[in-house]
Amino acid sequence: MRITLVRGDITDQEVDAVVNAANSSLLGGGGVDGAIHDRGGPAILAACKALRRTGYVDGLPTGQAVATTGGDLPAKWVIHTVGPVYSPPLDRTDFLRSCYRETLRVAADLGVRTIAFPAVSAGVYGWPVADAARQAVLGIRQAAPSSVEEVRFVLFNEEVFDAFRKALDDGGGVRVSPDA
Ligand code: ADP
Repeated sequence: MRITLVRGDITDQEVDAVVNAANSSLLGGGGVDGAIHDRGGPAILAACKALRRTGYVDGLPTGQAVATTGGDLPAKWVIHTVGPVYSPPLDRTDFLRSCYRETLRVAADLGVRTIAFPAVSAGVYGWPVADAARQAVLGIRQAAPSSVEEVRFVLFNEEVFDAFRKALDDGGGVRVSPDA
């Protein structure tokens, strides 16, 4: 599995699956969530509402992941995951790593080969960017080998891009793409 970094908008990515930094309601929000629903159209919200009526009556718990259609996005799937709100002194880091592990498990079940992640929890949920990047890389490395060939981190601005580049600095085989 190779890890790549792109500066850009996750809704533009031509991958099998894009990851949504959702909230547990699964009914939309700001940031990445708003962008994915805006660009992906009503099919994604309809699929989320269907999930709320069936297996996720109380919403999606923090650290877990679930897939829906990608709607009008270039990606076939959206995998929704709920990051933890940054709330020291509680140590919620394993919830953040779990988002990456669980998302990759769901992706593997779908036979996904390419997947794009945003910086989960690093926006409205307030996680410090340097640690959000470290936990992301750890979570990806904890995942079992699977069909997934490329994990692409898609970072919206330079600060977040640089934090992920630093977190990956000691990793072999990392390819950093030009700005998207
Ligand atoms: P959370 O609620 O998990 O913190 P946010 O969506 O608020 O999620 O932010 C997560 C990260 O995604 C932030 O770094 C934010 O700048 C970034 N982001 C926002 N919109 C996009 C987008 N369209 N593509 C990629 N990253 C985005």
